[in-house]
Amino acid sequence: MASILICGGAGYIGSHMVALLIERGLDVVVFDNLSTGHGEAVAGATLIEGDVRDAAALDSVFRSRRFDAVMHFCALSLVGESVRVLVAYYQSNVAGTLTLLEAMQRHGVGKLVFSSTAAVYGHPQQELIAEDHPTVPINPYGRSKRMVEQVLADAAAAYGLRAVALRYFNAAGAHPEGQIGESHDPETHLIPNVLKAALGSGAGLKVFGDDYPTADGTCVRDYIHVDDLAEAHLAALDWMQRNEGFHAFNLGNGQGFSVLQIIEAARRVTGKDIPFQVEVRRPGDPATLVACADLAREALGWQPRYREMEGIIETAWRWHSAQRY
Ligand code: UDP
Repeated sequence: MASILICGGAGYIGSHMVALLIERGLDVVVFDNLSTGHGEAVAGATLIEGDVRDAAALDSVFRSRRFDAVMHFCALSLVGESVRVLVAYYQSNVAGTLTLLEAMQRHGVGKLVFSSTAAVYGHPQQELIAEDHPTVPINPYGRSKRMVEQVLADAAAAYGLRAVALRYFNAAGAHPEGQIGESHDPETHLIPNVLKAALGSGAGLKVFGDDYPTADGTCVRDYIHVDDLAEAHLAALDWMQRNEGFHAFNLGNGQGFSVLQIIEAARRVTGKDIPFQVEVRRPGDPATLVACADLAREALGWQPRYREMEGIIETAWRWHSAQRY
């Protein structure tokens, strides 16, 4: 049975990945410092608590069994926060990955799936962003991920690391059975905040900026279901058996939704009134980010199953309405 090490497996996307791998009968070890993750979200996997910047802790994990590949989800991932506490972002996202890469090399593990982001592109120069779009990130979060991608390309050339960077657009939704979902403290992401507002909890929904150059003035994003992201990682693992080098793939639905359209869709799904207030723009936010994900379809044979915004929000709603806020 193949063993996969999931760094950051207790987080939002990582925990959905763990659930899928277990469902497919793989042996999964989660390594997570539980700074933002939740131990209870990885039932069925072996959980080792530790930090990816700790080389000795990684050595002991890699000595514990033979891993076929590593998936690396650990990161600080809030655009706005990255502008303020940038050193923490470079430390966690860049230095952490370097420590992991060295450990993988020491223990002869040669395959890595890396969580990258649409934030590597910066301001889009065309409507749909493909992988060959210039990567000029406009915030420290995007720059930290871009730096790691460059390191992975160097490592592939220098010693034959096989690495896939998956550039997520906006992860959304929750496992349809409702045991795991998106839970950050404090919550900064749009859909959870919209659903909290629908439940009447939280500090009130804020829309950050309505003066962007978009149809309704609010930011447009491409929302992709977290289970579709997890499926793409499995496809990437399979692809790496046959392909060498470093490769980056976009993961998105190819459809943009504005903040106001998300609120409208959530009103339809929940049947609730969702009040909001317009505030100033949040630093580091580009107006529009929408994926061209043709490459992932063609190379990985991956297709998102959740194509409708309502369907994505419905799974998130199931999770949020079961929480005690
Ligand atoms: N946003 C908002 N109110 C919120 C959270 C987010 O208006 O409470 C906006 C944010 O400015 C961005 C979009 O919603 O344009 C998506 O933000 P999110 O933090 O969910 O994801 P990001 O695009 O930063 O990865």
